[in-house]
Amino acid sequence: MADIITLLPDHVANQIAAGEVVQRPASVVKELLENAIDAKAENIQLIIQESGKKLIQVIDDGKGMSETDARLAFERHATSKIKQIDDLFSLQTKGFRGEALASIAAVAQIEMHTKQEKDEVGTHLKIAASKVEYQNISATTKGTSIAIRNLFFNIPARRNFLKSNNVELRHIIDEFHRVALAYPSISFVFQQNNSTLLNLSKGTLSQRIVAIFGKKIEEKLVTISSDTTVGKISGYIIKPDYARKNRGQQFFFVNNRFIKSPFLHHSIVQSFKGLLPEGYYPGYFIFFELNPESIDINIHPTKTEIKFENEQDLYAILKSATRHSLGMFQITPSLDFNHNPSLDIPYSYKSKSPKDPAIEVDKSFNPFVQKSEKITKEQWEPLVKIKESSLNTIPQNNSFLTEDITIRNHFQINNKYIVTHLDEDVLVINQYRAHQRILYEDFLQSVTTKKQKSQQLLFPINIELSLKIKSIFAEIKETFLEMGFSFEVLSDNELKVNGVPAICMNKNIKEVIENLFETFETESPVESFSYADSIAQSLCKSLAITNGMPLNHEEQKSIIEKLLKCKDSLTTPFNKKIYFLLSKNEMDKQLN
Ligand code: ADP
Ligand code: MG
Repeated sequence: MADIITLLPDHVANQIAAGEVVQRPASVVKELLENAIDAKAENIQLIIQESGKKLIQVIDDGKGMSETDARLAFERHATSKIKQIDDLFSLQTKGFRGEALASIAAVAQIEMHTKQEKDEVGTHLKIAASKVEYQNISATTKGTSIAIRNLFFNIPARRNFLKSNNVELRHIIDEFHRVALAYPSISFVFQQNNSTLLNLSKGTLSQRIVAIFGKKIEEKLVTISSDTTVGKISGYIIKPDYARKNRGQQFFFVNNRFIKSPFLHHSIVQSFKGLLPEGYYPGYFIFFELNPESIDINIHPTKTEIKFENEQDLYAILKSATRHSLGMFQITPSLDFNHNPSLDIPYSYKSKSPKDPAIEVDKSFNPFVQKSEKITKEQWEPLVKIKESSLNTIPQNNSFLTEDITIRNHFQINNKYIVTHLDEDVLVINQYRAHQRILYEDFLQSVTTKKQKSQQLLFPINIELSLKIKSIFAEIKETFLEMGFSFEVLSDNELKVNGVPAICMNKNIKEVIENLFETFETESPVESFSYADSIAQSLCKSLAITNGMPLNHEEQKSIIEKLLKCKDSLTTPFNKKIYFLLSKNEMDKQLN
């Protein structure tokens, strides 16, 4: 039999390796920014076009490369950062695998200018699909400018796999934030399609956080710090009052490298226990300084997951440091910022109490009108399906369905569950989830039937636009208008909201809108879903009565009735189960 094993040609091997390192434009952004930092740049410029699909360029004033190094840099396993495996454990640089440039070169067109300070002239190099196509001298300044064009141009399948510009841009912004937060002493400029998205001058960590997330974040932060033999902790946590309903602002850095650690995150969640209402997440910017020997960053190609030697100790130290900060902010509201209270505006966060938002079950609800609304057969059907599956019996003709049913008996327990009965079975409903479903369908219904009314605000509200919102605002603006929001653009990053959908009235509107924007910031909406759907999801989350809210008899009834009228009463828009049935059979079994 003939031999069948061949060695893969380098360009194929590189393309395969690229699959691990280069998933999307944002991965290229990360690698190039890290290379610039490793080259000790003080000023870094990131330029993208078409969310990086067309162009990603990073210009730095770092140490540059010699002519030979410029060529070598694109070879696989070519690195100046380690020489032997032991070096991994005293690592001071971001990169070390020597894979990034080789991988990128395998799947894109690259043009680079680079020059070292001591050299008269620099090097100009063009590479496409791993092949050097052009090399010459370059009259450039000290540092490196590297442009990546048409990512995945030679692998159409991968290119097609990329998401919309919107989604890819969000990933790039995330990577950019992570690097920029880790290096406040380096200045960054971020440009997209010839407009500047962010211009960050050198400064302290707190200045950098403000420059990225806006002035208002100042009053939300409290410092965290700890210095032990295991390592140092520094940074900020976001006060529980300002916790958000998404995970947008959670940053861990280990030796200035952004990392993900569900384990350490858990430690923080533990410390916040009891301080956050259901559905809210803690926010933090936490920096660990650890002995490089006590961590292993080589377990993941993108190096965002690392192994700690003293995991348990870190967990405990972080927990106590977080606890300490949480206790401290009660007496010292803002620590290293000069907060100017005169800047506060009506509806300010100050009056906000996330544990106890204003509740409104039903605007049209009037306790003095005694309606005895009948519920039709169709409305029970989802329930019956559950009933059938929970009973595990063959569907049969349920006699009670032939007649309409009146909700008569119901009560609330634990300020959380509404209990009623369905024929001979007991039905237990989670009030928060039920109300989410009701509001969600209500809102989408009113939008599709164009019955959504906009209500003018007596006191218009100013909202600061984050980078991500700014970058996609043109796209989402239309939907906002359609949904009943009206606003004017005050400046590059401020919006004045004049009107909101009627359903939002009497709420903390500022919070509702900020939650809404956060949705667009952090969750890449599944693309098949429309923006209207994302808005409806966010609104129903913000506006629903929470668990823990006492409801009177009529309010309970209203929830039950409206839930049963929903198209899908089984689950929330977030796929959480809304109710369960306790069957007579089950009761009999329990008590036989
Ligand atoms: P790694 O960063 O893991 O070493 P890369 O493929 O990212 O691997 O880069 C290969 C080498 O090219 C680096 O080790 C470095 O010597 C050089 N290099 C890459 N980018 C720059 C830059 N912006 N400035 C100076 N040298 C660079
Ligand atoms: Mg690198």
